[in-house]
Amino acid sequence: MLVRLLYASRAVPAVDQEELLAILKKSKANNPAQGITGVLCLSDGIFLQALEGGRAQVNRLYSRIVTDPRHTDVQLLSYEEIGERRFAGWSMGQVNMARLNRALLLKYSETATLDPYAVSGSVSMALFAELVATASIVGQS
Ligand code: FAD
Repeated sequence: MLVRLLYASRAVPAVDQEELLAILKKSKANNPAQGITGVLCLSDGIFLQALEGGRAQVNRLYSRIVTDPRHTDVQLLSYEEIGERRFAGWSMGQVNMARLNRALLLKYSETATLDPYAVSGSVSMALFAELVATASIVGQS
């Protein structure tokens, strides 16, 4: 039983590049043992993260992440049972914002900024899928 969960949250001001790297390091250390894969993006102070794996494992990790003091306003955008993973290659990939084509953001939203609070979960998911397809993800597991 595989599920994919997508959520958005607002990073607290103290979250800088160093803190982001610490979160990714911890994720890469923890996720393989739980069979969890996914992608994390931080842009303009907003986190967008997709988690996939067994239902129990994804639910448990999400419960932990929600209480993390490094972000607030955590909103579940999408939760679905899936037949196969989309991010199987990443224990936790990071969207390489330097390579992000802003036109891709414009394709899915009113302005060229990442604002998952303003679009549907399926739109954010579609954006993620394109980021993977255009190789804008770093951090192979
Ligand atoms: P430890 O690292 O030993 O931490 C123990 C406790 O201290 C936990 O409650 C933890 O939340 C807290 N803590 C640790 N470091 C800090 C810090 N720098 N500031 C404040 N509190 C801290 N974890 C994953 O395993 N996989 C993920 O994919 C994942 N994605 C995340 C995405 C985001 C946006 C954020 C903010 C966090 C994410 N985390 C992820 C981290 C997660 O919230 C927990 O901190 C982590 O899973 C706890 O790991 P641990 O059980 O090894 O405990």
